[in-house]
Amino acid sequence: MNCRSLPEQQDIRRLPSTPLRFLVVWARFQWPGYSLVLILQTLQASLTILIPYATSLIIAAVTRTSLDKTGATSTLNLSVTMFLAVVFGEMLSARLAGACYVGLLPRQRHEIIRRLTHCLQLHPATHRENDSCGALGHRIQDTAIAVDQLSGILLFDFWPGSIALASAILLLALTSPPLAVMLLVWALLFTAGSACFALRSKSAAVAEAEARSRTSGFLIDALFNLETSRLFANLAGERRLLDQRLDEEMKVVRSTLRQHEAIRWFQLASSAALTAGTLLMALWLWQHGKIGIAEFTLVAGINLIIINDAHNLSQRFIDIFECYGTLSNGIDRLIKPAEPCDDTEHPPLVVTQGQITFEHIHFSYPTGRPVFRDLSLSLPAGKRIGVVGHSGAGKSTLFRLLLRLYEPQQGRILIDGQIVGEHQRSSLLAQISVIPQEPRLFNRSLLDNIRYGRQDASHEEVIEAASLAQCHDFITRLPEGYHTPAGENGARLSGGQQQRIAIARAILKKAPILIMDEATASLDPLTEKTLLGLLDTHLKDTTVLVITHNPKTMIQLDEILVFEQGEIKEQGTHAELLKADGTYAKMFA
Ligand code: ATP
Repeated sequence: MNCRSLPEQQDIRRLPSTPLRFLVVWARFQWPGYSLVLILQTLQASLTILIPYATSLIIAAVTRTSLDKTGATSTLNLSVTMFLAVVFGEMLSARLAGACYVGLLPRQRHEIIRRLTHCLQLHPATHRENDSCGALGHRIQDTAIAVDQLSGILLFDFWPGSIALASAILLLALTSPPLAVMLLVWALLFTAGSACFALRSKSAAVAEAEARSRTSGFLIDALFNLETSRLFANLAGERRLLDQRLDEEMKVVRSTLRQHEAIRWFQLASSAALTAGTLLMALWLWQHGKIGIAEFTLVAGINLIIINDAHNLSQRFIDIFECYGTLSNGIDRLIKPAEPCDDTEHPPLVVTQGQITFEHIHFSYPTGRPVFRDLSLSLPAGKRIGVVGHSGAGKSTLFRLLLRLYEPQQGRILIDGQIVGEHQRSSLLAQISVIPQEPRLFNRSLLDNIRYGRQDASHEEVIEAASLAQCHDFITRLPEGYHTPAGENGARLSGGQQQRIAIARAILKKAPILIMDEATASLDPLTEKTLLGLLDTHLKDTTVLVITHNPKTMIQLDEILVFEQGEIKEQGTHAELLKADGTYAKMFA
């Protein structure tokens, strides 16, 4: 199927954040396929209405044949041929439309999931904090499914239903204008009534989708922390909390179901009124000789089709609201203004020395009080610089700003004299390795996890990095060696093993700046000592920034910054700071 391709970066900024416009994007994305389905569905719906017409022609011909056998046989043959052609054509166009849709749907779902994931990748860190990863994953899938269902309902129910109604009115206008007027009035009232219900149900549908996603977020969080609940013997407490969530959801669902029942009542009552009305009027017209038996059959046939469509639409209406709610909720959470990403108009950052300067930084998290007020500091190139201080002093925040996970409200950060905010973010991140406090591993092979540092690294380079990080031996002892999966969040490895994999990954990256955020906290003292020795041998020219609470690590550093409530209280070598007998000396003791 021919389809337009949306340019990678551009389309993320263009993804609309209202359900209707979002649907239009996907219809436009594969417009040739969508147009073909629409044409085939138009044909199918018109032919459906022609079936009672062809039947009425046969009845007229049969009536005439019984009076005048010779003259009317050819008319009967013609009517039967027409009937067969209409039935066959209706079936063929319906199935051809189905076949086209088979080509459209998987591609559409693929693209929606891909684009929404791309959008999520570019969310500012502040947005990502509000939802659990599992819940966001569900939202992406649910949004894609909602678009599929909505487009399916519009293409295969609403569109043919409307065409059938219009064709029926036209056909009746040719045979019996009063019945056509009646059907037209009914169609107008039915559409107006349905639109009123649609408007009233919209907010209930959105509230239900929101409640469902809140419950699924809670469930994911509870399951993720199942071990903690077991350890604290609080499984019953978790079930109680779940009950509360489900009770809240139940209230919202009940209100939506009430709306659904109202829609069903309205639509069933409308179709009953139409049945009774047209039948009585057709009888009256027949009794007064205004229509014959053939026209009467035509009216009855059309009536049946329209009533069947109205029944079908009443269920589809409900499905539409559910999908609308899911879609609206999904795009509300997933489509956010992208974080300033790799603007290609900015030059790449080139790190030659690795000298880092923070100038007059003011920063507070969106939900918190200020962490830094006018912080200025300079970190010399090629040195091992320690950042120490009590918990919550702002040590990790300092590096989050350097990595541009957050942007300072005021001030600027420079590396080798270049303002990082004015250079491509990817070039910044390419030159910094991070060994985080809690290593995050993919549930992929250990080889893939280590190679994440540099995707094009050779097998030998991976083994060298793993040996330096003291993980080669334990990896080769595993049954599947480097191909062993790490498990969800590295669950198949011990804390120390996970940390060593993260260290290997950072070594392999060979970046001129290395950030170690309590990177050796889970290691035994011997491994830690060996690893710190690496700083001297293999990372001689690297600027190493170390957050640590470990006195043994502090001794090995060239310079130490002591943080207290977002300010530098002391700065100097280990010996100088001990001599000063201030905060550092107390911490060290
Ligand atoms: P630790 O040694 O315990 O890791 P730290 O010195 O690294 O602590 P930071 O993580 O930088 O401290 O936190 C500095 C302050 O910012 C703390 O008061 C913390 O509560 C707050 N903070 C950290 N992350 C966020 C966040 N995402 N949103 C709001 N406030 C935050």
